[in-house]
Amino acid sequence: MSSVEALCRHCRQTFVATAPPPLVCSHCGRPQSEARAPQPLLDECQACGCPMLYRQRDFNRSLGLVLVILSGLLALAGYAWGGFWVGTGVLVAATLCDRLLVVTRAEVVVCYRCHAIHRGFQPHSRLVFFDLATHDAYRGQDVPDQSA
Ligand SMILES: [Zn+2]
Ligand SMILES: [Zn+2]
Repeated sequence: MSSVEALCRHCRQTFVATAPPPLVCSHCGRPQSEARAPQPLLDECQACGCPMLYRQRDFNRSLGLVLVILSGLLALAGYAWGGFWVGTGVLVAATLCDRLLVVTRAEVVVCYRCHAIHRGFQPHSRLVFFDLATHDAYRGQDVPDQSA
């Protein structure tokens, strides 16, 4: 089942919606922007209707960071006590584990503008992975409040 995790433009609380757009906030009950439902591929943000979306692996970032630090320390220990090949072996093993984690994680689609997270959708083929230039272009653009 697909779901969208979005920040409500009215009450500024995060909610998760599983129904097609317009998404309705579970906290204040007010609808978000009109957006096209995926047909069947997702190419528009279900929360704000913005077409600028990017793909991302649904990976826990803090867990990823812990793994990186842990494998770094292990590699250092390997170099210190076991010499070059043990340390390198640890690094290679850590890299393989990391790759494995990445490919086994589900993919999510995130909105550049309102950062809504779309899970379980089939993304349109034009959607690509995160691009910093596009992110910078959209940064600081607050979602306009149409209820005012
Ligand atoms: Zn709300
Ligand atoms: Zn959006």
